Amino acid sequence: MFDNLSDKLDKAFHILKGHGKITEVNVADTLKEVRRALLDADVNFKIAKDFTAKVKDKAIGQDVLTTLQPGQLLVKLVKDELTELMGGDVAGVNLSGNPTVILMSGLQGSGKTTFSGKLANFLKTKKNKKPLLVACDIYRPAAINQLHVVGDQIGVEVYSEPENKNPVEIAQNAIKHAKANGFNVVIVDTAGRLAVDQEMMDEIARVHKAIQPQETLFVVDSMTGQDAVNTAKAFNDILNFDGVILTKLDGDTRGGAALSIKSIVNKPIKFVGTGEKMEAIDVFYPERMAERILG
Ligand code: GDP
Repeated sequence: MFDNLSDKLDKAFHILKGHGKITEVNVADTLKEVRRALLDADVNFKIAKDFTAKVKDKAIGQDVLTTLQPGQLLVKLVKDELTELMGGDVAGVNLSGNPTVILMSGLQGSGKTTFSGKLANFLKTKKNKKPLLVACDIYRPAAINQLHVVGDQIGVEVYSEPENKNPVEIAQNAIKHAKANGFNVVIVDTAGRLAVDQEMMDEIARVHKAIQPQETLFVVDSMTGQDAVNTAKAFNDILNFDGVILTKLDGDTRGGAALSIKSIVNKPIKFVGTGEKMEAIDVFYPERMAERILG
């Protein structure tokens, strides 16, 4: 579907043939192609510009290995740099609490409820945990029902208080319930809005303060591209979250939001969502994401 960056760079690099070294002149043209690829993948403009400037410094003077096309060498440099920027090692979830409390944050429609279920299922089946899901959306009865449907699907109990309009109380009661009933992970799904607003931020800040989660995760729809960065920044300013969940990567986005978010909030991307099913969850691998972004 996308042009292959490696081929494009090889074409842009034809002037290099016979020179043996990457020089400033041929690198400038070629990095324009890299920048275009990043922008096509929805990477924020300034981040793409800073990124290519950095790669340029690294690239100049490098010997062109005889076994590689110069374009491929540059693609490797770009890929390595992207991988490093997006996180290096695979980041896990801190499960040290007793119970471990995980707070989910993000806009409405980002995939919070779905991901809460996926994470509960992952922890239950892969980590041998006994999770409890908590419905803290006091505005949309449908959201509470949705979490119950998810819980039924994966055989995980869902705690809700449909009559209670205080999400702090609901979350606190849920943790008490977890302690009394042997649950060792509590996943708190919160109310989202269609856009960032003060009321939502105040509410999630109150819940966060009251329950002191071991992990606060920010869920973001990878299809929202540039907007994802602003939303991530707004939530991080309030919650200083621990990690990012990038959902809907099964769509046709190249996922440049991953690089932009990491650059702006400097928090690890922990998991990706790759479909609507409960099994469609993957640990985030920076290298795979770098390849996807470059196409
Ligand atoms: P919430 O409002 O943040 O709780 O979002 P939901 O969990 O209700 O998800 C919103 C919509 O996105 C639903 O239709 C989900 O089925 C869908 N969804 C969530 N995660 C994914 C994903 O990784 N891939 C796809 N294709 N759809 C997803």
